[in-house]
Amino acid sequence: PQPVVAVVGRPNVGKSTLVNRIIGRRQAVVEDIPGVTRDRVPYDAQWNGRSFTVVDTGGWEPDARDRAAAIAAQAEIAVATADVVVFVVDAMVGSTDVDEAAVKMLRRSAKPVILVANKTDNTAIEMEATSLWSLGLGEPYPVSALHGRGSGELLDAIMDAL
Ligand code: GDP
Ligand code: MG
Repeated sequence: PQPVVAVVGRPNVGKSTLVNRIIGRRQAVVEDIPGVTRDRVPYDAQWNGRSFTVVDTGGWEPDARDRAAAIAAQAEIAVATADVVVFVVDAMVGSTDVDEAAVKMLRRSAKPVILVANKTDNTAIEMEATSLWSLGLGEPYPVSALHGRGSGELLDAIMDAL
């Protein structure tokens, strides 16, 4: 079976946009409204001649209820069944309480985690993104899923972690 990369993070940070960037086509559903992806959605991807599965998830939120809780549970299953986790945060917003709660969940999973500072559309935001070191997940990869900035470096890092 192919190695599996799970993409998790808060709603609206650009997970589905990043998945589309990784698979090289617009298949994952991107919406301005948070919480569009409800389940775990797997896609086939390739990079440098290697094949892997990338799993898009709905937004993870702590202490979520009802529908949001079901979505968060799916994200946790995606983490548990992944070889590598790509944890996406919004560089324009910076680290939030929800991001910190997600980091705790990721630590419990003991999976290798790659931190992505998404929406790093320009160098000014890249400066801001360095503050995401505070999450304790090492160097954030500055990426603009929308424009493609930094996606090659991220994919190289994912391949190294697999
Ligand atoms: P998800 O809920 O985490 O899957 O987020 P989506 O991929 O659906 O994106 C949410 C919104 O953020 C959409 O309006 C995207 O166009 C926007 N977005 C995603 N990536 C970027 C990025 O790199 N830069 C900017 N400026 N917007 C982005
Ligand atoms: Mg999505």
